[in-house]
Amino acid sequence: MRAPVLICPTITLRAYGRLCCAPRRLHCHGSSSQFLNLNLSRFSRRLLTSFFHMEQFQSGAGSSGKKTMVENLKRYGVISSKRVAQVMEDLDRGLFVPAGSSAYVDTPVPIGYNATISAPHMHATCLQLLEDKLQPGMRALDVGSGTGYLTGCFALMVGAEGRVVGVDHIPELVDMSIKNIEKSVAASLLKKGSLSLHVGDGRKGWQEFGPYDAIHVGAAASEIPQPLLDQLKPGGRMVIPLGTYFQDLKVIDKSEDGSIKAHTETSVRYVPLTSRDEQLGGF
Ligand code: SAH
Repeated sequence: MRAPVLICPTITLRAYGRLCCAPRRLHCHGSSSQFLNLNLSRFSRRLLTSFFHMEQFQSGAGSSGKKTMVENLKRYGVISSKRVAQVMEDLDRGLFVPAGSSAYVDTPVPIGYNATISAPHMHATCLQLLEDKLQPGMRALDVGSGTGYLTGCFALMVGAEGRVVGVDHIPELVDMSIKNIEKSVAASLLKKGSLSLHVGDGRKGWQEFGPYDAIHVGAAASEIPQPLLDQLKPGGRMVIPLGTYFQDLKVIDKSEDGSIKAHTETSVRYVPLTSRDEQLGGF
């Protein structure tokens, strides 16, 4: 029988071992699990432990499930701030994953259209990196908004005085993300218009509500799209996975004089930031 490989809600110890020690030999089967949003280097050990801890709590759905998820992310050092912990407890990931999927296990979940909702530790990592730029009243852009989970977290953090825009190029995913948000604690922000989700090519950003204090890109680009750099506010921060097979999560800071500084946070594996046709064709 073929060895279990890669992501999926049923990620195995063996798969994790391969990811940690032999990424070059990564392979996969099935188009929807072709790519994963999994942080390979920094958290891999503690996440392995946290994964099994979280799995034990799967029977506790709803509020106990998400509380346990957040507690584990805190315990293993992925969440370090109260605001990030609070928002991940407030916005129920269970409303954003397909019915029957494991909402609170630390793994990406396929959402159709060759996309996945990122693993909780990746959402937490990105929220931590962007937290200072998600203060009440600030503006944020979420490129590749998928299920809308992270977009909703951004909206709750910047509040009704802020402005959050999610962009995805798959219309069905945008419709689904709107429905997800409508069921969630972020619904009133959507209704009031401080949060909106749009169909579009995220490589062009969303100029209408820019410039943005925070830009998150949820899919891996081969290089940083210039419109996203242009729409980043001086003093703002972008988090973007860069690369094709081997990818780095890059943190891009634009200083007040407009100069750009970048550093690598960690190694990751995301779906590509690409054209709709290429994505639907299975890359
Ligand atoms: N962050 C989201 C989804 C991550 S999957 C979540 O956790 O739910 C990456 C998403 O990027 C997919 O939904 C895919 O459709 C989208 N995407 C890929 N290329 C894109 C592009 N050029 N413009 C807009 N969205 C894109």
